[in-house]
Amino acid sequence: MKRELVTIIILLCFDILQAQQLNKPKPPNILIIFSDDHAYQAIGAYGNPFNLTPNIDRIAKQGAVFKNVFVANSLCAPSRATLLTGKYSHINGLKINDITNPFNIHQQLVSRILQTHNYQTAWIGKWHLQTLPGDAFNYWMVPPDQGNYYNPDFINMQNDTVRMNGYITEVISDLVFSWLDKREKDKPFFLVIGEKATHREWLPDIRDLGAYDTINFPLPKTFHDDYKGRQAAANQDMTIAKTMRLKEDLKVHADYERDGTYNRFTPEQKKAFIDYYEGKVSKDFDEHQYTVGALLQWKYQRYLKDYLAVAKSLDRNIGKVLDYLDRNNLTENTVVIYASDQGFYMGEHGWFDKRFMYEESLRTPFIMRYPGVINPGSSIDNMVVNIDFAPTILDIAGIKPSEDIQGQSFLPVLKNKEYKWRNAVYYHYYEYPEPHHVSPHFGIRTNRYKLIRFYGPADFWELYDLKNDPVEMQNLYSKKEYRSVIAQLKKQLNSLIKKYTDTGAQKILKAETIR
Ligand code: CA
Repeated sequence: MKRELVTIIILLCFDILQAQQLNKPKPPNILIIFSDDHAYQAIGAYGNPFNLTPNIDRIAKQGAVFKNVFVANSLCAPSRATLLTGKYSHINGLKINDITNPFNIHQQLVSRILQTHNYQTAWIGKWHLQTLPGDAFNYWMVPPDQGNYYNPDFINMQNDTVRMNGYITEVISDLVFSWLDKREKDKPFFLVIGEKATHREWLPDIRDLGAYDTINFPLPKTFHDDYKGRQAAANQDMTIAKTMRLKEDLKVHADYERDGTYNRFTPEQKKAFIDYYEGKVSKDFDEHQYTVGALLQWKYQRYLKDYLAVAKSLDRNIGKVLDYLDRNNLTENTVVIYASDQGFYMGEHGWFDKRFMYEESLRTPFIMRYPGVINPGSSIDNMVVNIDFAPTILDIAGIKPSEDIQGQSFLPVLKNKEYKWRNAVYYHYYEYPEPHHVSPHFGIRTNRYKLIRFYGPADFWELYDLKNDPVEMQNLYSKKEYRSVIAQLKKQLNSLIKKYTDTGAQKILKAETIR
């Protein structure tokens, strides 16, 4: 009798435990669609008027648009390293895009932490970290280095390089759906879709050639910038006028035998390109004897038309991913994040590319759908830095981020608008001189001001009042009336440098004080 009672009690306890397990909310799936060089200016949810991104906008309508998400270092590979580590470049070791300096994959990564908490993890698509993902993800399939737009090579988990047929954005989607179909369905997943779009040299899918030829894109206010009072801006090599190449970037009489690009095309793909770029674009170029000024405008229009045509496939494929989630009943329990690795210039200051601490490249698009947590149609103004992505992901999964992670989860901000959050952002860019001659610099951005210290080849400071000069044309550093603002910002900058232990920047400031 006594024995039976004990058995009954044990069974009861077991039942209660099981019931508790069932009631515990299942950790959500986390899906990050991480594009490359996709400017927020190109996205409807950020105010672009041409309805170019209906599917990215769909995530925004069902979730939140983050208006002030900044990167720690506006460059491709360093941004991926920061996404994985939650740390600044000087801590995670990846300061520049450098084929000879691979990312240290053996450090603590958000994917590895998630793996130890029952998550199934995958990275599919552009990776760009030179070293391979190894055991950092349960599944991966990545193109070598930058990857190709057409019939791209991918490296699989056996380290074999395999050639895939088709346009890269479509290839990546197919790989994603096949992994999602085959994944262990009793575990939550963490999936990063690494998009190649919209990286230079902007080869659109053949179905999107000429998609925007009827639009005459307006010139940005700062298109004809003369860089007065801004030395680094004057010294760069990333203008549409001089740096953007007619042949390679804009496909005016392109070399259709070129290794690594057009020699990968099928005859059908090549014919579509020749029909469009020779038959229309190059013909138009040849028929006009453009003056210097007219040529600049022509290049700008062609740049945007190609860039946005590449983004059209990106957006279409994001729609396919969202449809997949709907169809498979995954939408309610999947957090979807759309982000680019950094911002990009679409003609502002006369530029393309990124790197500078100015707004267009410092700020990256970031849109997040989190059913039950984020109200549809939300807009978040808090200043988030990409070091916050990793700890936020861990927080979503119910895992407390470790102390060494430099970012902070922004989930509390979503739940409580009054939550005390950072009031300044720290930035540090390194890659110099090649490929675009942008001087290394670090700096601080607050809601109102931006103070930048360029170092090498010349040393100088810049100050912008973002309220009165949001397009950053007036360097106020030498103005007497800003002395106290500058002193205050320098103090704040110093404390951020200490907080993030950027000893390189610390040395530069110290040397300046002694001098
Ligand atoms: Ca990039």
